[in-house]
Amino acid sequence: MNLYEQAKKVIPGGVNSPVRAFKSVEMDPIFITRGDGPYVYDTEGKKYIDFVNSWGPLILGHNPKETRKNIHNYIEEGITFGLPTKIEVEMAQLFTESTNTDMVRMVNSGTEATMSAIRLARAYTSKNKIIKFEGCYHGHSDALLVKSGSGTLTFNSPTSLGVPLDVIKDTIVCEYNSIDSVKLAIDKFDDISCVIIEPIAGNMGVVVPDKSFIKELRELTAKNNIILIFDEVITGFRTSFGSIAKDFDIEADLYCFGKIIGGGLPVGAFAGKREIMELLSPVGNVYQAGTLSGNPLAMKMGRDVILKLKESPEIYEDIEKLAVRLEKGFLKNIEITKTDAKISRYKSMMSLFFGKFDQIKSYEDVKNADTHMYANYFKGMLEEGFIFAPAQFEAIFLSHAHNEDIIDKAIEANLRVLKNL
Ligand SMILES: *Cc1c(COP(=O)(O)O)cnc(C)c1O
Repeated sequence: MNLYEQAKKVIPGGVNSPVRAFKSVEMDPIFITRGDGPYVYDTEGKKYIDFVNSWGPLILGHNPKETRKNIHNYIEEGITFGLPTKIEVEMAQLFTESTNTDMVRMVNSGTEATMSAIRLARAYTSKNKIIKFEGCYHGHSDALLVKSGSGTLTFNSPTSLGVPLDVIKDTIVCEYNSIDSVKLAIDKFDDISCVIIEPIAGNMGVVVPDKSFIKELRELTAKNNIILIFDEVITGFRTSFGSIAKDFDIEADLYCFGKIIGGGLPVGAFAGKREIMELLSPVGNVYQAGTLSGNPLAMKMGRDVILKLKESPEIYEDIEKLAVRLEKGFLKNIEITKTDAKISRYKSMMSLFFGKFDQIKSYEDVKNADTHMYANYFKGMLEEGFIFAPAQFEAIFLSHAHNEDIIDKAIEANLRVLKNL
């Protein structure tokens, strides 16, 4: 019995996170045994050039030498204590300095970070409602698994069974990149505690809003005593060192991080202004805790990656150059083959959308992308030895282990595959 059949017997769908099952690309998943730099190897020994990079965390590629040799030493010192450690303090100092925040609390996933940040925002403002945007993903906590109804601000519905209507009744879903939809919500409800947003969206594929939208969102929230939460679980330390807020010349009130900051181990964080963060227990009365939070091994791995990025700022330029090269090559191929497709990119985050689009600025714009075409494209590239995200509405993640040669090979393969679609 193959591994997938075995897996399905003991793990629902055979996977520990649904997108790994490759349903969106209409095939069975591959199982990975090993990663090294830009490559991953499957259980059949086939080697792939990897553009998933564990969905973003591996900005230095697989098993980079900066963290590989250290982790062996760290294990010698013990893995978890559930008592305070020096590395947590060092990491918090480095982290707050890097993200221009006052205080941070470490958790184990992005889901935990957003869930806790929202609790904090509600406590700080003594208000209940939250605004999120259609197409943005903030982890799988109940109140955030919501999509909007047919009309603006009509009845929302949960995107998962098991989420009670009562739990989502305080979640308002607005349209990404539409400040009018936010104004409408603020006019209608006076009980809004926070707005949570992916400043560059990565979870409907890469969607880049207008800079003015984010700036107006900042002004509007500040004026109405609403906490602005930047969910930077993807963008944090990916598009540039620290937070993306500086790209918009603004500051958010709270920030959520994850992915890159754990160096490949399970870490999330939420951070922000002291007066908000000090509402957390044991200083204040907002409860939040975690047996493995601030895990020393994860903190050390995360610190090593952040230090490497801090010491080598050229990494960001290098990766962006590769992304531009990939974009140009793909665009040329799209033109040559007259494929209906468009690329949306912000720095080293990008997506190739199949279909016809006037613009790519909201979920409305991309929701009708041709997922079947993407599935065929994905399969073609896989056969060529390249693994991209196994779903249309995801990002291509580059790492510093990629190089021009790999990018050029990907461009050549892309042309062959587009020709055959
Ligand atoms: C991945 C992601 C999350 C959830 O993080 P997990 O570690 O998977 O719980 C939250 N927000 C954004 C923007 C993400 O991309």
